Amino acid sequence: MTYISTRGEAASLTFEDVLLAGLARDGGLYVPETWPTLAPATIASFAGRPFAEVAAEVMAPFVGDSIDRATLLAMAREAYGRFGHPAVTPLTQIDRNRWVLELVHGPPLAFKDVARQLLARLMDPALARRGRRATIVGATSGDTGGAAIEAFRSSQRVDVVILFPDGRVSDVQRRMMTTPTEANVHAVAIKGTFDDCQALVKAMFNDHAFRDALSLSGVNSINWARIVAQVTYYFVAAVALGAPHRRVSFAVPTGNFGDILAGWVAKRMGLPIETLVIASNENDILPRAHATGVYEMRGVVETSSPSMDIQISSNFERYLFEASGRDAGFIRGAMGTLAQGGRFELGKCAELFRQEFAAASASEADVADAIRRTKDVSGYLMDPHTACGLVALERSLSQAEAPGIVLATAHPAKFPDAMERIMGQRPELPPRLASLLTDPERFPVIENDLGAVKRFVESAAPPAASAGAL
Ligand SMILES: *Cc1c(COP(=O)(O)O)cnc(C)c1O
Repeated sequence: MTYISTRGEAASLTFEDVLLAGLARDGGLYVPETWPTLAPATIASFAGRPFAEVAAEVMAPFVGDSIDRATLLAMAREAYGRFGHPAVTPLTQIDRNRWVLELVHGPPLAFKDVARQLLARLMDPALARRGRRATIVGATSGDTGGAAIEAFRSSQRVDVVILFPDGRVSDVQRRMMTTPTEANVHAVAIKGTFDDCQALVKAMFNDHAFRDALSLSGVNSINWARIVAQVTYYFVAAVALGAPHRRVSFAVPTGNFGDILAGWVAKRMGLPIETLVIASNENDILPRAHATGVYEMRGVVETSSPSMDIQISSNFERYLFEASGRDAGFIRGAMGTLAQGGRFELGKCAELFRQEFAAASASEADVADAIRRTKDVSGYLMDPHTACGLVALERSLSQAEAPGIVLATAHPAKFPDAMERIMGQRPELPPRLASLLTDPERFPVIENDLGAVKRFVESAAPPAASAGAL
């Protein structure tokens, strides 16, 4: 399989190159040159199969010759063997015709683990074949750091350094970063704010000599391999509810448009999905674009679902590329206009976008109401991100339609303050994470000083065997 850039001016690459490259050199995002499809009989055969086997089948056409099937299956088994539920992503019914797809059973309870655990395993052999190492440097305000460290803690070729603001992340979030004992993962407390941490990371990336010497890489959701790894659970959930003989709908708590794009890919591959609902919180750029045909940035407001507090959705570019009939000139124009004026017209993409998706946003009051109602009706406790999904599902579909599945992207225990405000008590940590509260921690505290942070990164990460930005 060959990959092309949405902006049409970068070289075509293989899966493995795309895995290591992230963003294309022309500023675009990589997409497969053609869309593979799965026959209805193949989809039907997924029923009752282990998650890792379905993952290997769904991903194989995208991976192409880069990795053989047996190796891919072995990687998937290892990645998903670390999940806290045998089904990996179980379905729970919360109402008549309504289900929750729980994506929160990965080691740090984050839905991004479903993709990242596999991504980490794919990277080692790709780097080994090139005789290289990579260093992942990131800043976190709490939630994302533990997941990045957890995913790469067994990596042979990737070192991870995560900066967090000293004293400003919750105990659980800090301990997820500071209790792993492997020598290649490091959490660093910075005497400053989250913005200071982000500025330090940005400054390291802008120092090209430093970036190349350490082969720095970011932790972001634009990597194509992450999208592909998310396609699996759409197949698994739909088949469990009767696909391909029966259609289902999904509502997806959306930030960067990666997760819902994976749903669109599943549909493009032949999975009979009735409706894909884009769910947002009060940061509603996508529902506004859906309603008006104008994609327009506004300031970010803070909500109880911080992973969806976004100004723009990077992966939306991939969808626009398809909706425009793969018109790279249109994408270059739209993204140029967006960069200059903070908005662009969807133009010829608007109609298809309205047909292929539904979209709705949830206010903070809607979120609190949905969490309380669901707990009352079914006993199920959902987090604020998932609640945005339920609200959008209810607004977009009637109960009489196809079964509706809400993607649960976060565990309520990860957002104890918001949950306490809404429910009056803090949710319990799942038992398998209890040791987190007593395991010894390890982390240096460093001044908000670029020189000092660079020295730490250099000491933590041996130089890349050959230079080249990841
Ligand atoms: C990242 C994230 C999302 C949004 O996913 P995208 O792929 O960026 O749209 C939703 N919920 C949670 C908890 C997340 O971490």
